[in-house]
Amino acid sequence: MDLISAQIEFDDQGRLVSTAYGDIYFQPGQAVSESEYVFLHKGGFYEAIESGTDVTVAELGFGTGLNFLLSAKAFVEKANPGETLHYIAFEKHPIRAADLKKIHGYWPELSTVSDPLRDQYPLLTQGIHRLHFKVADRNINLTLVWGDVSDWLPDMPFQADIWYLDGFAPAKNPDMWADLLWKPIARNTKDGGRVTTFTAAGAVRRGLITAGFDMEKTRGYGRKRDMLIGTIQQNAPRNPMPYDAKSMPWPHVDGLKKVAVIGAGIAGCALADALTRHGIETHIYDTGDGPAGGASGNPVAAVYPKLGVITSPSDRLYRQAFTYARMFYGQLPDSSFDACGVFLMDRNTDAQTRHQKISERIADPALARYVETDSVTGLDLKQGGLWMEQGGTVCPPDLCRALIKRAHQTGRLHTHYNHKVTDLAHLGADAVILANADGINTFAETDHVPVEAVRGQISRWPATPVSQHLKSVLCHKGYITPCKDGAHIIGATFDKGASADHIATAADHTRNLEQLFAEVPELRADTDATRLAGRRAHRTASPDRLPYCGPVLNSNEFEHTHEALSQDATTRFDRLPPYHTGLYILGALGSHGMTTAPWLAEVLACHLAGVPLPASSRHLYDLTPARMAVRQMIRKNPS
Ligand code: SAM
Repeated sequence: MDLISAQIEFDDQGRLVSTAYGDIYFQPGQAVSESEYVFLHKGGFYEAIESGTDVTVAELGFGTGLNFLLSAKAFVEKANPGETLHYIAFEKHPIRAADLKKIHGYWPELSTVSDPLRDQYPLLTQGIHRLHFKVADRNINLTLVWGDVSDWLPDMPFQADIWYLDGFAPAKNPDMWADLLWKPIARNTKDGGRVTTFTAAGAVRRGLITAGFDMEKTRGYGRKRDMLIGTIQQNAPRNPMPYDAKSMPWPHVDGLKKVAVIGAGIAGCALADALTRHGIETHIYDTGDGPAGGASGNPVAAVYPKLGVITSPSDRLYRQAFTYARMFYGQLPDSSFDACGVFLMDRNTDAQTRHQKISERIADPALARYVETDSVTGLDLKQGGLWMEQGGTVCPPDLCRALIKRAHQTGRLHTHYNHKVTDLAHLGADAVILANADGINTFAETDHVPVEAVRGQISRWPATPVSQHLKSVLCHKGYITPCKDGAHIIGATFDKGASADHIATAADHTRNLEQLFAEVPELRADTDATRLAGRRAHRTASPDRLPYCGPVLNSNEFEHTHEALSQDATTRFDRLPPYHTGLYILGALGSHGMTTAPWLAEVLACHLAGVPLPASSRHLYDLTPARMAVRQMIRKNPS
């Protein structure tokens, strides 16, 4: 199972109780003052705000979000305008949104921060979920890690100023206070960073001392005699850059001021938005006379996660990228997102089994659930399928324009249209991100990065009396979108190679129609393919079908490294060629760019801005373009 949500109830004294752990979240009447005392006051949060810089807090046990809400409210009231609170919280059993609404009702004074939290509250699926909101010109970046802290923390690349340790009592919740956590906590603490917790348990104190904290007991809240606070020792053994699950740290660009983005499709536009939001001057270049000239120029694209029957790099990516995209489109004015739902029809028994298995492992039915017979698309198909009610469509050109518009509003975006970039060195940028689809490997620096182009044609099919009832996206072997302005979009063909232009052919319209009628005979209707409108474009993919997001290896050293490796295969990860400082790729988004681009752009922008990423080092390894070189090495040196 993906994850199990919190099992909670209010007892007869009005306390919120976890029935699974046999402990309480809070006592009515004293919850706020206890949290303020133990975490914000004793933990040094108020002092950190006074330092006049961004503050990063990490919390074990998000629960009701009370510690977060109090911290965010204090930050909004006391921090300087423009500053950012980064708050990363781990939670194994998240509270369901409906319960949270009731609980937050106890604290109406926190509604300026609790309302936006609930508006963006992520689906209950394992992963790292990023929320961002602005209140009174202060930025709140909340990263909710749904999952067991011991699974996630060791791979998390961030450094906190303050740690709030707020599991249930150690005797009732031993896995939250396990010895194996102390080292990752110390490793993810900045110089001078602090830790605070309500417990005074000796094992916790000893564990944190061993990991490198100076610990002291201090007066606890109310009738509690003691609690613990600590400060990281100067010489504590810490991992300076924890992006290194596979010894492949992403390089930092010191003193980064200006970034150039090549390509103004969905990848480039999402980057322009994310980079400027993180305060970075951004220059975007495109050969077209505006955004969305390539595959992002299609009038409709579906947004939904490609889920797997087991956890895999792809499943890991899509669950959290989709959750992010939903939140993101909900916040973006004029995003064009239409939450019509997406139905993956059981085309055959294999698909049926697959859909059922996916549904069994997904905890949140809003992410995906199996329906026996179609009661969701409006067509009453006899087949069942996987229903993703939060999926939908966007109009990619409108979406790209909305992103560029928001980026312009920051005053940090410069657009360079009708501009073909041929020489990266002459852009005068501290970092360059290649987001130009199948052009990403057309530069000398990137010619070793494998890229495949796949042509696809979509057709605009006039609605019929039957088809007009379609309310959601229906995916069969291809797909059909709900009727808009009298027609559906059907697609798409799938042929290797790039397309030179966007001109649709009658032959490919016929293929789209034949596929639709074969898969969904209920929709069969006489149609003259020669009269259909449509558009041809190509998507770009990597050999393993996962996107590229990350730095680029220095290709000149590539062959040389192979030689070195064949002599000493054991250290192969250390022998990777160095990276090109400041050169990155965001691309190979295939047919799912509208689902993945916002989250991928946020990952890269956070890396460049030097702030906590909404990703673990496992994600970074799955996505880094250098994975191709690593695999090649493993094939050559399997030992
Ligand atoms: N800080 C919370 C608040 O402000 O409401 C209260 C946290 S409550 C005392 C402890 C939380 O830790 C629970 O929500 C529980 O589900 C979570 N938890 C317990 N074990 C965990 C684990 N191994 N990993 C992540 N979270 C865990």
